Amino acid sequence: MTKQINFNHSAGVPVDEQVLKAMKPYFRQYYGNPSSVHAVGQQSAKAIANARVQVGQLIGAAPKDRVIFTSGATEANNLALQGFAYRHRRKGNHIIISKMEHLSIINTAKFLSKQGFEYTQVGVDKHGIVDTKALKKAITDQTILISIQHANNEVGTIQPIADIAQIANNAEIPLHVDAVASAGLIPVNVSEHGISLLTLSSNDLYGPKGVGALYTRKEVALQPILTGGGQEYGIRSGSENVSGIVGMGAAAELAKEQLADNVTRLTWLRDQLIKGVLEKIDDSYLNGHPTQRLPNNANIRFSYIEGEAITLHLSFQGFLVATSSACTSKTLAPSHCLMSMGVAEAEAHGALQLTLGRENTQAHIDKFVEVLPPIIEKLRAMSPLSKDVPYDIFEDEEHDHHH
Ligand code: PMP
Repeated sequence: MTKQINFNHSAGVPVDEQVLKAMKPYFRQYYGNPSSVHAVGQQSAKAIANARVQVGQLIGAAPKDRVIFTSGATEANNLALQGFAYRHRRKGNHIIISKMEHLSIINTAKFLSKQGFEYTQVGVDKHGIVDTKALKKAITDQTILISIQHANNEVGTIQPIADIAQIANNAEIPLHVDAVASAGLIPVNVSEHGISLLTLSSNDLYGPKGVGALYTRKEVALQPILTGGGQEYGIRSGSENVSGIVGMGAAAELAKEQLADNVTRLTWLRDQLIKGVLEKIDDSYLNGHPTQRLPNNANIRFSYIEGEAITLHLSFQGFLVATSSACTSKTLAPSHCLMSMGVAEAEAHGALQLTLGRENTQAHIDKFVEVLPPIIEKLRAMSPLSKDVPYDIFEDEEHDHHH
């Protein structure tokens, strides 16, 4: 088998060696349940307390704030929205999210709407930036929570989170931020912006899968969505995943240490990748914001062909890439993010999501830029669509969506 080159880090990341080393003693040596008063249990309790500090430091949490460990970002997002909505129901029944959110936010808002809550999805511009004027306008006297992601895992757009936080703070409405895609890649600071709730995922920080965290500012109350023995401040019951939590803590500490170096190196590689592809291939376009984008993300669409076919051909060359969010690739529906940005459906089908990681090198980029053009050329030669049968890149509503 050819050596695989991973350009699909938003879907899965190998656990860092140092993280793995930190986790190892917590499988056999320190196997205790942190709720036990005996020594082996207390060793685990101490390790979890340490991981809370490590995670808190990555996001600039204050010492009295809480880091609640969960089974992953999906659970943390569910806990943020449901836990907040149930607890603060008497204050109002309205939540604001954006059209770019991950499905664990969008579907949770939908779920809440079946239980007497209402939600507004604020739109975005063609680069995927949330319309802050529309956000302000969407606030009503029933609004209890705003949830906007820091950055988009699929198209890489970074939201103006300081402006969004200011709007929320001025209206005295708590802000939840999904920072899964941004943490470890760009600075995230809950204290600086006055963020009340924030979601993190361990694997995106090169930690193990099956762990995540919800940060909550100390005065923010939530109703548990998992009830039981009262672990994690009584908000998330269930015996803790000690080794996983230790891994997430170690990963957070490493991510903080390496952030500056990663940003510089990844930004350089990303820009080589984007420049190389756009220069070599006609009718290819960058999706997402040209500058306000994650240092590891290049999302590029190729007119006249399907992303799935490109993905398959690239995999023969050893490249692991995705067409759109790994979370939505189970359906053939075009990405909701690209559609919200006004990209035509046919164009959205031709998009590749490339996400770089720590182990990628210049040689990987060079090889990619070399192997991609003949693949695109071959697929376009077979495609029924062409320059002679054009379609609008940003089609307006009157147009037929099928070409
Ligand atoms: N939020 C964002 C922005 C994501 O990209 C993802 C998926 N990587 C999630 C939440 C959900 O994460 P998980 O599937 O690990 O629970």
